[in-house]
Amino acid sequence: MSTATTMRFGIEEALQQLGIEDTNKGTSTGTDWFAGGDAIDSISPVDGEKIASVTTTTKDDYEKVITTATEAFKKWRTLPAPQRGEIVRQFNEELRRLKEPLGKLVSYEMGKSYQEGLGEVQEMIDICDFAVGLSRQLHGLTMHSERPGHRMYEQYHPLGVVGIISAFNFPVAVWSWNTALAWVCGDVCIWKPSEKTPLTGIACQKIAARVFAENGLPEGISCLINGDYRVGEYMTTDSRIPLISATGSTRMGKIVAKTVGERLGKTLLELGGNNAIIVTPDADIKMTVIGAVFGAVGTCGQRCTSTRRLIVHEDIYDKVKDAVTDAYKQIKIGNPLDENNHVGPLIDTDAVKMYQDALKSVKEQGGNVIVEGGVLEGEGYESGCYVKPAIAEAKNDMQIVQHETFAPILYLLKYSGDVGNAIEIQNGVKQGLSSAIMTNNLREAEQFLSHGGSDCGIANVNIGTSGAEIGGAFGGEKDTGGGRESGSDAWKIYMRRQTNTINYTTELPLAQGIKFDL
Ligand code: NAD
Repeated sequence: MSTATTMRFGIEEALQQLGIEDTNKGTSTGTDWFAGGDAIDSISPVDGEKIASVTTTTKDDYEKVITTATEAFKKWRTLPAPQRGEIVRQFNEELRRLKEPLGKLVSYEMGKSYQEGLGEVQEMIDICDFAVGLSRQLHGLTMHSERPGHRMYEQYHPLGVVGIISAFNFPVAVWSWNTALAWVCGDVCIWKPSEKTPLTGIACQKIAARVFAENGLPEGISCLINGDYRVGEYMTTDSRIPLISATGSTRMGKIVAKTVGERLGKTLLELGGNNAIIVTPDADIKMTVIGAVFGAVGTCGQRCTSTRRLIVHEDIYDKVKDAVTDAYKQIKIGNPLDENNHVGPLIDTDAVKMYQDALKSVKEQGGNVIVEGGVLEGEGYESGCYVKPAIAEAKNDMQIVQHETFAPILYLLKYSGDVGNAIEIQNGVKQGLSSAIMTNNLREAEQFLSHGGSDCGIANVNIGTSGAEIGGAFGGEKDTGGGRESGSDAWKIYMRRQTNTINYTTELPLAQGIKFDL
């Protein structure tokens, strides 16, 4: 670790506050009984510096983790749900106390702006608040039995060990969306964060482990394993894990779905998006520009909900194009820990290569690049991960437009006629995560939201595609995987439903009027 660099951004202090002292010997769980496999380096895309080496989890280590988790489940599930909620409340107090250092580490390890890093920790805080309330509301239904003297109802029981696999772009929030709900539901969790952001995983694990230990609860309620897809496979192939919640690319989701499906496990999949904003002649252009530009360049285009396509009516096409390209001239690219900058780096140089290849494909496939991209060089850009957000005029059926490039490339698409044509374009991709319409026309808005409208899991009116509140169920259809997590009734996936029928008579009548006389 370069002391000079980390001191410069205050990262050293943040790591200390988070209890991460020896960054060259980061253990996977915060415990010391790990043998540990090869080390992976956590490299900051901000300045290219190595922040830490993190020990990966071997298969033997994993066996200890799953045993510890399974044992912990036996105790954790016996606590009444509101008491589990109380533990989540205490965990949340710690998140509030450590919001700044954790937000800073998220920013430095992943490359998103400090404001977005803090925002991500705020999402953790919000979902914990939600989960605490939920811990008193895990209710089932009662229904009328067809048999006299019988009572029928359903109840929800904890599932067991929940496996969480997360992506680099939301290194901490996605874990908490799953884990806060799973914990109040009575489950225990094993988390494999992205191999690109292992240190934020260790920071979260340390916070959780401390809270459980202070309450005399077993450490296995919250487990962390580290490594790449091979470590993820320990969990996906393990029938002791009834639910795998996996966030990442569609490519990964298809493999995970097959592997877990083969052993008839459950999956919650949160995969890639190809999100569009429809801009109709009745749109407020100022709002459109803010929504589209933040959606396309925020987190350097590395949100699953990033705006990738802007579908604009021909009557206002030139006006919108000019307004958006003008706005791009004001974007400041640089160190995300400097609050004057709007856009930080891509996660690594592999991502930069994918961005460059995509821009090449746009041109080869007939797109018209109107805001040129490129990789930034020189002082402040030494990591080689800083790129310019680009805009291209394109057609929806171009192969590159159909593909989710995880970088700040925005495609401008033109539509004519009524809003139904725009909706057809918007739905004409394989992914189905987030969508939006900018319009002041009630009929257009309602058509967009109707059953013949957007086919995405998220459909917004006069808000961009990017970001979501924790109170609603989050997720998408088609190649996005169909999972729902976070708010609403997403908690049900973390529990098993049981239907109970009780006979309080002295007879044994059978259902459907069947007679069985002995
Ligand atoms: P990725 O698919 O490369 O990796 C995601 C995680 O899956 C990592 O932890 C990785 O180690 C693990 N993994 C990969 N292959 C695996 C396998 N075969 N078995 C088990 N685990 C495996 O994704 P990424 O580059 O980290 O993240 C970007 C992608 O994530 C984008 O496509 C983005 O849209 C998507 N994403 C979706 C959501 C959502 O909620 N829909 C949220 C965030 C990110």
